[in-house]
Amino acid sequence: MKMNNLETIVEMIKDSDAILIGASNGLSISEGYNIFADDDRFKKVFGDFREKYGIRSALQGAMTANNTDNEMWSYIGRMAQNYSTETPLMKELHELVKDKPHFILTSNTDGHFQKAGFKPDKVFELEGNLTEMYCPNLCYGEVIDGEELIDEMLKHEVGTEIPDEYLPKCSHCGSVLKPHLPDGHFFFQDNNYNKRYQNFQEFLEKYHNKKLLILELGIGPYNQMIKAPLMQIAYAEPNANYVTFNKGQIYIAPEIVSKSIGIDGDLSSIIPEMLNLMETENSKSETNQNY
Ligand SMILES: [Zn+2]
Repeated sequence: MKMNNLETIVEMIKDSDAILIGASNGLSISEGYNIFADDDRFKKVFGDFREKYGIRSALQGAMTANNTDNEMWSYIGRMAQNYSTETPLMKELHELVKDKPHFILTSNTDGHFQKAGFKPDKVFELEGNLTEMYCPNLCYGEVIDGEELIDEMLKHEVGTEIPDEYLPKCSHCGSVLKPHLPDGHFFFQDNNYNKRYQNFQEFLEKYHNKKLLILELGIGPYNQMIKAPLMQIAYAEPNANYVTFNKGQIYIAPEIVSKSIGIDGDLSSIIPEMLNLMETENSKSETNQNY
């Protein structure tokens, strides 16, 4: 990793009119939340499920421990409580971009952006959020914030199950609510989802032709949901710059190479490094203004 590249990116942040952030699993992993790993957090939170089913990652368990609503809500509830938390790295990312207009596209379902201070109307969660719920009969047009319901139901957890009476239920039809996550090929695009989509379109219109900086954080090279659209925006916008951070695999479409930078490294050290560079530079310019 060349230091001068990070300096260039910090300059781009300061010089930009707006910042469009795309984020996927790689960012969560750098924050210390790896849903693919048989790590200490997984063993601590899901040790009993791990024994019971032989699962070896939080993601694998989410696809396995769902035979009954009782077990599914025990599993998803624990995941929401232990994986949807505030992280220091996300707070540093917020510090880095908060003074510029920004918008976030993410497939992460851990809600880390909002917990770190990003405004919910600027965060478009394309695959939902672990702490949100909806009625399977779609009685309501919007998802329900289920954070308190989850804390409450987990107090009554018995082994790997939530007893029937503590399952979250629709106040209209009585059905057990579902977590707002993709369910096979179905994903509930509720009213909030549509509003965020509209916010995103308005953001793109507002900063059309302006200096738009696209920061892509931990997205796999072949990702079609976020990476491909971001590269298309970089291509179509004459004054856009595109910066992709990923550990191990960097891909930049040939058409946008001249306006792009790829950083192969770990965001857990890159984000603090960039924040440090920015703060050093800010304090220098403040000192200069005093003379
Ligand atoms: Zn209902």
